[in-house]
Amino acid sequence: MSAIIIAIIALVALGLAFQPLFRQEQLAFVTADELDPNLENLLSAREATYSAIKDLESDHMQGKLSNVDYQTLRSKYETKALAILQQLDVVETNSVVTAQPVATADGRCAHCGEPFDARDKFCRRCGASIAPTAPPAARP
Ligand SMILES: [Zn+2]
Repeated sequence: MSAIIIAIIALVALGLAFQPLFRQEQLAFVTADELDPNLENLLSAREATYSAIKDLESDHMQGKLSNVDYQTLRSKYETKALAILQQLDVVETNSVVTAQPVATADGRCAHCGEPFDARDKFCRRCGASIAPTAPPAARP
């Protein structure tokens, strides 16, 4: 009887000892989030975070992740995604406000290289103003 109890205690102790290792490894790249204010980096960070959430969901569906781990990781990623989106908002707002016309001769955004229609006023990718911004005409 006592052998069984000792075995259970040993297993629990082992589980507790190893769990933080696994967690730290999984979270290492999530928590290292000095967000780069550079727009390109923010956009790729956003994509990376979205695809990480998708991976997380599929791991969870396949039973590779416990509910607790899934919830913990998912909320970390969502927090990060939110921070990225907020940072993107700030950067995009600033770049629209201070934007000069950035169209290149070959019809691409000079800011990020996204091709655009002649009718577009703003880049669909980075939000930079494409059309020359005429100074507001003084109305009589
Ligand atoms: Zn652009």
